[in-house]
Amino acid sequence: MGFEKIKGQEKNVKIIKEALLKGSMGHAVLLEGPTGSGKTTLGFLIAQALNCITGSGDPCDTCLSCKKIEKRVFPDLEFVEPKERWIKLEQIRGAKKNFLLYNQEGKYRIFFIKEAHCLTREAAASLLKIMEEPTEKMKFILTTPAPFRLPATILSRCSRVKTHRLSPELTGKLVKERYPLAPVEKVEIAVRLSGGIPGAAFAIMEDEAWEKRTGEVKEFGTSMVKGNISEAEIMEAAGKWAEREDVLNLLQWLMIFFRDGLLMKAGCRDELLVDHRHLSLWEKCPVVVSALEDCVNIIKDTIKTITTTNANIQLAVENMFLQIKGRLC
Ligand SMILES: [Zn+2]
Repeated sequence: MGFEKIKGQEKNVKIIKEALLKGSMGHAVLLEGPTGSGKTTLGFLIAQALNCITGSGDPCDTCLSCKKIEKRVFPDLEFVEPKERWIKLEQIRGAKKNFLLYNQEGKYRIFFIKEAHCLTREAAASLLKIMEEPTEKMKFILTTPAPFRLPATILSRCSRVKTHRLSPELTGKLVKERYPLAPVEKVEIAVRLSGGIPGAAFAIMEDEAWEKRTGEVKEFGTSMVKGNISEAEIMEAAGKWAEREDVLNLLQWLMIFFRDGLLMKAGCRDELLVDHRHLSLWEKCPVVVSALEDCVNIIKDTIKTITTTNANIQLAVENMFLQIKGRLC
């Protein structure tokens, strides 16, 4: 399989393979692109290709190095990812200790940092020290959906590869291949919602609670639209949502709820709507297009704030609900 595992990123794969074959791959590669677009998979394929005994520029999947890297038990691989939203100094220090040893069995030692934008300032400084003076045998692979949050000193040492979105057709094909028995309605919603990011579509397919969650969001959204929810109830709901692990998922569904309303009110065709179960509500409700547009933007901004800053989630959700209520009345 090798790089064929990655679908829809042919141009990137071609560039990476050429660099691997020519031996011109830099010490550090930054894979940047939306969450779920295949950065981690691509990163591990690069780690495999670098260490594969075939040296063909493509992982063979069968040699010991390829297999151990796939299982993440390769002794020359240090894999670091965020714990509780951050990659802390201790994590980088711990990984560096092993990484600075001689090669144990690979051609290259790989330092893999997933979600590199989560590095604390101290952790980034510690990482930078080894990135500044790499030996021939060291390779750094970093992934992030938010490169602008990485220090310029790290960015400047990386070759940057951007993963991108796939067409709805290709996303649909991948989802159907992976979940051949799934209900058509769920596949359609997953593909429409994924925005061409296969990982996002797969996450919806694997989300067993999605029906319950979307039901909850619809109930809450409907009360907001109908105006039969008090400010106290809104604050209480904000507190409950903010405490939940799936808070971002709830916000995304709420955004879809309003976006579907906006599309319907703006006279768009049914097939553009994500969730057709909302149709009857929007047909009857008198809310104007501009208010719905504002609601969508308010939720979008809140999601961005929560995912890209260290904001207090409860305050952000409370503020969002109150703004929405203000636009709807
Ligand atoms: Zn191999």
